[in-house]
Amino acid sequence: MDALYTLLRRGFRHGVHPEEHKERTEGVPIQRMPFVGRYVLPLGQHLGAPSKPVVEVGERVVRGQLIAEPGAFVSTSLHSPVTGWVRAIASRRHPGGLFARSIEIETDPYATQRLTPRPPLAWKALSITDFIAEVQKAGIVGMGGAAFPAHVKYSLPDGQHIDNVLVNGAECEPFLTNDHRLMVERPDALLRGIEILLHVLGAKAATIGVELNKPDAISVLQRRIDPAGPVRVVPLRVKYPQGAEKMLIKAIYDQEVRSGELPRDIGIVVNNVGTVVAIADWLDSGVPLIERVVTVSGRGVAKPSNLIVPLGTPVREVLRFCGGLRDDTVEVVVGGPMMGTTVSSLDVPVLKGTSGLLAFTREESVRPKEYPCIRCGRCVEACPAFLNPSRLARLAKARMFGEMKQYAVMDCIECGSCTYSCPSGIPIVQLIRTAKSQLRQPTRKTA
Ligand code: SF4
Ligand code: SF4
Repeated sequence: MDALYTLLRRGFRHGVHPEEHKERTEGVPIQRMPFVGRYVLPLGQHLGAPSKPVVEVGERVVRGQLIAEPGAFVSTSLHSPVTGWVRAIASRRHPGGLFARSIEIETDPYATQRLTPRPPLAWKALSITDFIAEVQKAGIVGMGGAAFPAHVKYSLPDGQHIDNVLVNGAECEPFLTNDHRLMVERPDALLRGIEILLHVLGAKAATIGVELNKPDAISVLQRRIDPAGPVRVVPLRVKYPQGAEKMLIKAIYDQEVRSGELPRDIGIVVNNVGTVVAIADWLDSGVPLIERVVTVSGRGVAKPSNLIVPLGTPVREVLRFCGGLRDDTVEVVVGGPMMGTTVSSLDVPVLKGTSGLLAFTREESVRPKEYPCIRCGRCVEACPAFLNPSRLARLAKARMFGEMKQYAVMDCIECGSCTYSCPSGIPIVQLIRTAKSQLRQPTRKTA
């Protein structure tokens, strides 16, 4: 108990406490969404290079078949979520707001859609290089929302090694409960994935960090863990953005990942619970990443749910399955309310990184009127990355993007704590996000 008390007191500094609303779906078991008539799979639905199609228009594909191969090392494979026919390889609307080259598949209404699992891979005999290739082959990305190709994290420069595997079960975004339900419903797959990671990475120990608002997940996992073994569950106080890698590392190991460093530089690899389960599914039964658990919530949706959704399913179909939208729904957000983005069309598809679909009514989606900065300092107090958000917002408004670098804008994790705490309603994180995307374009003028 003393140890627990110490951990809870330690945590990370700053952050915010947004209202939660997890009660709508935290007790709702994961249900499988039925197949629909059409799927759209953008080739660039992860960070890094887009995937390259290996199928042609008109070709018949089966569920789980490779349809696009990695376009570079920082890129992943893409598989068909359904048995049917490739109807187009063309530009389609992406949830990010722009259009992206995508593979469109029409479902065969007479196909069984049954997957034939392959026997488990002998993963104990896999070298780290082979393991990395397997994870890339399975198309696995970070399932917490960032969608960074998972295999890249296991590729270590010479001389580096991983001591600790940190499993991110914090799920600090309000409304989202998809990771929570995975921990409650598939603890064995999660622990199996951890066993695999410990072995292939040669790590000494693994920690699953779970916020205290998920007591059932904590107890399910604790009951299955051998107290004398290398895996432990650490309950964490409820605080946003606890699920950000650097904050989670600080809360659990009391170690800092400095500016420009990665967790692996201090011997830690961080994976979301969904990512670890996906690794176990691939190695144990050869099921690639063709579907994911999505929380559907917000007052605008009739039946809040946790669903297994095939990738590429149009958002409109998911919402329809959940009873449709209330008339006073004003926006649908992909992801959580703090870091998610509003979709411009309900025809955009569910991607590998889609953790939630939130339908907000007029009442829930109050956009504060913007007033001038009153220099109250609340955004500075809230920022977990110890930046000066008000200064960054001022520079962004003046389009002085180059100067923003001096104030470590690239260390911003885009958590939105500053915007949330600003009494003047200044959209700070949105301004910073725009500046960061400008700074990533080397040919554009930045100041
Ligand atoms: S919280 Fe808003 S009003 Fe206060 S200093 Fe920051 S930007 Fe200015
Ligand atoms: S400046 Fe970035 S890291 Fe700091 S609170 Fe705002 S969004 Fe979060």
